[in-house]
Amino acid sequence: MTAVKVHGGIDILRLPVNEEEHVFPPWHIKYTQSHILHSKCSKSENGCGDQDADACQFCIYSRTLEMPHMPDMVFPNNILTLKHRDGAILQFNALDALKYVANGKINIQLACAEAWKESRSENSEFLEEKVKPFDWTFTTSYTGTISGFQLEETNERIDLDKLRRKEKIMFYHDLTLFEDELHDNGIAACSVKIRVMPTSFFILLRYFLRIDNVMLRVKDTRIYHEFGHNYLLREFTTREAKVQDIRVSPALFVEPSEIAPHLPLTESHYHKLIIPSREELKVEEGTSTSVKNTNRKVYEEFYQRY
Ligand SMILES: [Zn+2]
Repeated sequence: MTAVKVHGGIDILRLPVNEEEHVFPPWHIKYTQSHILHSKCSKSENGCGDQDADACQFCIYSRTLEMPHMPDMVFPNNILTLKHRDGAILQFNALDALKYVANGKINIQLACAEAWKESRSENSEFLEEKVKPFDWTFTTSYTGTISGFQLEETNERIDLDKLRRKEKIMFYHDLTLFEDELHDNGIAACSVKIRVMPTSFFILLRYFLRIDNVMLRVKDTRIYHEFGHNYLLREFTTREAKVQDIRVSPALFVEPSEIAPHLPLTESHYHKLIIPSREELKVEEGTSTSVKNTNRKVYEEFYQRY
């Protein structure tokens, strides 16, 4: 582990790429993690070419997102992937999470923009820089990247009591996808956690925003699967409030899981991610350039190795 000086004066720890794979048939679970995204092209002074198939991560991010600026810390290699034997894939990565950040498409309809202006009125220069048609809070409604699942709305809910029961944890991991300190005015962070137990797995993807003295926002995606079932449950919720309307100790504001239950629910979506069986996939075969089939092939190749 070595400290690397990058421009902007931030010392970062360059960690070696770390990865781990676990097989809980019919699931294959893998994560990779490594250092933050570089702050400039790592290949050439002028950046990688548009057609460069082998572009560096910085150029891929810049080109794909076209954001005025990226979060302070982006972890492009922090990726969690779950593959089902029959081809369905669920993944969590920073690039896809950042694609959901409103960029150039919004007219600063941010709920907090006015409150922010008030709190920053002594610093108009900073305000000018921040209030652009770009969501500088990096708010994302990302719920994970899926392929090969059939999606349908559901009234079924994750059995939280069951989750609270003490079950052996066979695998646990926590990855940060991105984080920004909002010029020392709070924090915006997106992370994913997974926990695998003997009878189920549970994933929490969380976007957390705290603008000091202004507001708090938590966007959670919970994914739960009971082994043996042919579907996953996915619950997406947004909770947010202005600081002035929150009646609990500010000491809780630093810990997302502590403050989230005290914030009013403003949005929720409940879905089933159904895993098609191999037979259903066969019917689809040859009908299109189905991603499902490609994924299935990848997965079969993987399975043959075990
Ligand atoms: Zn590059």
